[in-house]
Amino acid sequence: MPKPEFWNNSKRYYDFKSFLINELGCKVYKLQIDAGFTCPNRDGTIGTGGCIYCNSRFSELRQQGTLPSVSEQIRNGKNLYARMRGAKKFIAYFQTATNTYAPYEKLKTFYDEALAQDDIIGIAVGTRPDCVPDDVIDLFEEYAHNYHVWLEYGLQSIHDETLNFINRGHDAKTFIDAVNRTAGKNINICVHIIVGLPGETREDIIETARVVSSLPIQGIKIHLLLALKETVLGSLYQQGKIRMPTKEEYINTVCDVLEILPPHMVIQRLTADGYRDIFLAPEWGKNKMDVLNSIDKELKKRDSWQGIKFNR
Ligand code: SF4
Repeated sequence: MPKPEFWNNSKRYYDFKSFLINELGCKVYKLQIDAGFTCPNRDGTIGTGGCIYCNSRFSELRQQGTLPSVSEQIRNGKNLYARMRGAKKFIAYFQTATNTYAPYEKLKTFYDEALAQDDIIGIAVGTRPDCVPDDVIDLFEEYAHNYHVWLEYGLQSIHDETLNFINRGHDAKTFIDAVNRTAGKNINICVHIIVGLPGETREDIIETARVVSSLPIQGIKIHLLLALKETVLGSLYQQGKIRMPTKEEYINTVCDVLEILPPHMVIQRLTADGYRDIFLAPEWGKNKMDVLNSIDKELKKRDSWQGIKFNR
């Protein structure tokens, strides 16, 4: 399969920036919002302790004290992006913790507040696939009449054995059900997966990518597994009970995954970053630009691109 022309980019995958320009006709920036949500996998509703790689402190903003309102966070973010990059249009991104974990009316109040701000042309909401009742999905369908809408589902792996080990608190079936209930409603669906989870082989990760490729999903975030301080995974790493992926393993696996994803699937993320002060491993993962450049280099070396092996 030749590299798709509709990407209108010079990359070997369909990056989010190009997608937004193609879809919306201008550069659009995501503004991160912490609305103070918690997580049912921490408070005992679904589980306690959370996913084994998750540090419970949530956003930097939350650590500083009382959270500013949603509109204030948007104003601050807009000013910053406008100063730094001349940005004019934005997507309100409810990023921290489980952003559908509240009663319907409370959720609607938060989302409505965000969408009422000037220059906000869309909304993106990160959540768990076991935390999206039908009425909440219907609310996003309503928003999609007038806004660009993304629902981001954390999956991490399609293998229940892995999901159990990392204490996700849901299985693969629950994810597939959430995707099927969301599909066909003009809502863009993004899935998060992690490369490097303990016990997973390259074939396991490819299998996750194959299942994701077969579903009505429009975008993907591929994360590098990070071992952080004060997490179960961090302790396992410090005790020598698990090993982190090497850079070569990561780059090769990400390129393998990209090759089998559908060409239309937007790549929103290809590594992980942040957490400098609690970072344990892998050391090479700290250099995000190097990871991205290495992925580009590997794809070039293979004379390959996203989707070249889709459906093969
Ligand atoms: S679902 Fe998200 S917020 Fe909740 S424990 Fe897992 S990673 Fe942390």
